[in-house]
Amino acid sequence: MTSTQTPIVRMQKLHKHFGSLHVLKDIDLEIVPGEVVVVIGASGSGKSTLIRCINGLEEFQSGSLDVDGNTLLPNGKSSQALQTIRTEVGMVFQQFNLFPHLSVLDNVTLAPMKVRGWSRQDAEETAKRLLDRVGIADQANKYPSQLSGGQQQRVALARALAMEPRLMLFDEPTSALDPEMIGEVLDAMRELAKEGMTMVIVTHEMGFAREVADRIIFIHKGEIAEQGTPEQLFDSPQHERTQSFLARVL
Ligand code: ADP
Ligand code: MG
Repeated sequence: MTSTQTPIVRMQKLHKHFGSLHVLKDIDLEIVPGEVVVVIGASGSGKSTLIRCINGLEEFQSGSLDVDGNTLLPNGKSSQALQTIRTEVGMVFQQFNLFPHLSVLDNVTLAPMKVRGWSRQDAEETAKRLLDRVGIADQANKYPSQLSGGQQQRVALARALAMEPRLMLFDEPTSALDPEMIGEVLDAMRELAKEGMTMVIVTHEMGFAREVADRIIFIHKGEIAEQGTPEQLFDSPQHERTQSFLARVL
């Protein structure tokens, strides 16, 4: 991690409310290119909301947010930046969100053709390469319902990568999977991290977090309570609330 680099994400004093619920409180967060950041915290602490703000899926009420030079303004007043950010930031969700009526191949080629204007031939070449990379080249002509959960999530990953994102967000990508399929998805993510992709990952897989993260962020009730390297966070957490959270999950 080279902290002298220009950050790809710069969040300053960000506040997010859902009605009267103050969900994110004064979040300052900078992420540099190539960095792998894992976000941990109890259910309801604001992890999903935090990463959904980064690609504009959630509006925020005050503060500032810059993603790869595109500025998102409070209350959604930045539609052009939002469009750019959506094409540059890939996201993988807990529920795979594949298009059920499209083949695996068409799931992966759709956005590059529609949004990037690629020819079908170019999009299919890239899609096949990506499906191969996540180990499911032989599933290209099947429909999502014919695949296991682990395979579907790898399609979702290939689909996001097809847009050549500058940044990838993951929101509990293995939480909906049967235990025996978690490893294959984590392996694909591990490879991506090794290749230098900038990643923000919400996960409860603490072993994986320790292994791939450059930095762990612990969110408590909408605030960054503590952050540091995996060694710092897991082996010598400074705050009582980090300690009690880790005591419950480790
Ligand atoms: P986490 O991902 O850490 O479990 P979330 O970011 O999903 O937490 O949620 C943080 C808080 O915001 C929770 O109290 C949740 O109930 C609330 N929340 C999340 N999404 C919405 C929404 N669309 N409308 C109202 N409240 C929401
Ligand atoms: Mg969540």
